[in-house]
Amino acid sequence: MEAKVSADAMNHRKRILILYTGGTIGMMKTEQGYAPQKDAFHALLRRIPELYADSMPDWEIVDMDPLLDSSNITVVEWNAIGEAIARRMAEFDGFVVLHGTDTMAYTASALSFMLRKNNKPVILTGSQIPLCEIRNDARDNLITALIIASSDLVHEVCLYFGGKLLRGNRAIKYSADDLIAFESPNYPVLAEAGIEIRYHQAALLPPCRGGFSLQRLINVPIGVIKVFPGIQFELFDSIMTERLKGIVIETFGAGNIPRHANSLLPMIRKASENGTIIVVCSQCPHGTVALGAYETSSALKEAGAISGYDLTTEAAVAKLYYLFSRKLSDREIRERMARSLRGEVSIPPLPGA
Ligand code: ASP
Repeated sequence: MEAKVSADAMNHRKRILILYTGGTIGMMKTEQGYAPQKDAFHALLRRIPELYADSMPDWEIVDMDPLLDSSNITVVEWNAIGEAIARRMAEFDGFVVLHGTDTMAYTASALSFMLRKNNKPVILTGSQIPLCEIRNDARDNLITALIIASSDLVHEVCLYFGGKLLRGNRAIKYSADDLIAFESPNYPVLAEAGIEIRYHQAALLPPCRGGFSLQRLINVPIGVIKVFPGIQFELFDSIMTERLKGIVIETFGAGNIPRHANSLLPMIRKASENGTIIVVCSQCPHGTVALGAYETSSALKEAGAISGYDLTTEAAVAKLYYLFSRKLSDREIRERMARSLRGEVSIPPLPGA
């Protein structure tokens, strides 16, 4: 089922909080290249009359301090963004987070887990060309994100960019220079902004019951290892078995590792016994890990690794931070890793179930 909502049909006096974290959208030209500058960005916003139109929601903007190029984001900033939203959850109907594109999919994934039992639209957006440039994608992304944040249909953390609304924890940045820079390869687009905004209601999460709470994240040591032909896993031994608490292994295809990499299996076994959670994701953006489909992947499962199915690496990293921050037992983390918490993963049904 689909619902079309135009700006006119919308309840235009919704209250939306914009959190400005930095990123290209608000950057200005400096001698060292583009850099965020808060006063200049606010001045540019004041010069967009559409933002003050009657059909737009009422909005307020809060700047995060310091404003960042999103390459510098850490769990400290994720906690600050989460806290800024949680503090004003009752006051506002929706939230727009202005963010750099480089790590937007990570932040969207992290917020989707941190904002527990969230029912309000939290829309991350940014741009490839700053608002200060004559030709830019910032203006449209911001205006449409504000309209979507006023929608009664959205109850989750999303990423809006270049005409597409995506589930935040399903999104990946796939282009460094296209204006349509994000994709959600394993989940349908939640809405498309053409002449009208067309929501695909069946793909959206329903509202959840229970009270909202914020889970702050702890900077748990987490690593991502990308498999490549000839990889010498033994070089990773000490970090895998002693230092990291969570590891995402980006394997070939459906979860395959090179056969010569026998040293990996005892390492996975030892790491798992030490309480390290090892999640198997794929280097292919589209499709799912199916441990056991090939001989080259069966051993991973036997050694104690967990299938990430079609989780993006971004969502796998964020989910590990979240689960470790909840101080759950080993068994509870493994159990939650293997199911969908916020629509982040498509778990195939059990045979015969
Ligand atoms: N480096 C910038 C950032 O992620 C890129 C962007 O916003 O598009 O903050």
